[in-house]
Amino acid sequence: MKKYIIGIDLGGMGAKGGVFSYEGELLVCDKIKTDKNDGFEGTVESLSVFCKSLAKDAGVSYTDVVAIGMGSPGVVDSTRGLVLRWSNFNWDNVPLAEVLSKKTEKPVYIANDANVAAFGEAKFGSTAQYQSSILLTIGTGVGGGMVFDGKLIEGYRSAGAELGHVTIREGGLPCACGRRGCYEKYASTTALIRQTRHAMVENLDSLLWEEAGGKIEKVDGRTAFAAARRGDKTAQEVIRQFVGYLSEGIADFVNILRPEAIVLGGGIANEGEELFAPLRKAVDERTYIAMDIVPLKIVGAALGNKAGMYGAYALAKEKMIK
Ligand SMILES: [Zn+2]
Repeated sequence: MKKYIIGIDLGGMGAKGGVFSYEGELLVCDKIKTDKNDGFEGTVESLSVFCKSLAKDAGVSYTDVVAIGMGSPGVVDSTRGLVLRWSNFNWDNVPLAEVLSKKTEKPVYIANDANVAAFGEAKFGSTAQYQSSILLTIGTGVGGGMVFDGKLIEGYRSAGAELGHVTIREGGLPCACGRRGCYEKYASTTALIRQTRHAMVENLDSLLWEEAGGKIEKVDGRTAFAAARRGDKTAQEVIRQFVGYLSEGIADFVNILRPEAIVLGGGIANEGEELFAPLRKAVDERTYIAMDIVPLKIVGAALGNKAGMYGAYALAKEKMIK
């Protein structure tokens, strides 16, 4: 009898889900909208309906679905299946795995969404050949996840691996977490946009203006890379500084944990060697043990927005066997 596993990537705006063969082939995927006004019960009900409709779309008997894995935002205690805190949805200490399991009549395994995405990337993405990797997702903030010896490293009650909130500038920019100088205030896409705008205001003749269509509010994570490629000195300096910030955090993680690979996710990974070549050099200059002594790969993520689904599948499969 064929067996199937459903992987769900829950978010504040929507949930993505897929049906996987037991061996890990993605058969179908779809998404639904999520809304904090639905409350905990309402959201879990939608997820339950979603799981059943996914099985139907895959042409799979729901009876043959043996487990559901899910990445959830917030502080997620993966051992006990609880969401300890998800501020956007006002969830406090909710038994997400247990309630969804009751509704779906399947075992449900959950973990933090960034960790689950790292797990997916490590098992199926660009670092599948390595035993140890750290994923950094560069977006509004910097999310992270660590996989060593094929296992997720989450810390006690899965409350660790908050890689975006290590300090790289003492007394620096204030962060929503309450500290100053956090990594994500300097190395996220949000930070790159702020750095680009700052450079534009200081350099009115820069090509950055042209790339942004003359409007500072049109600046995005690609603007500085586009102008730098055209030889704009101001843009090149923005990239040089941003790569410097990005490398500071990476060098710290490498000095502590020394993975075989660092994987960058988020739109910025599409900039290719314009980003990766200077980044590798900057990280190599900052790490205690150089890359010619102990190799270190720095690569882009391969699964894009499907990493969470793949990770959720892999999480469920691993926890089932345990
Ligand atoms: Zn912070």
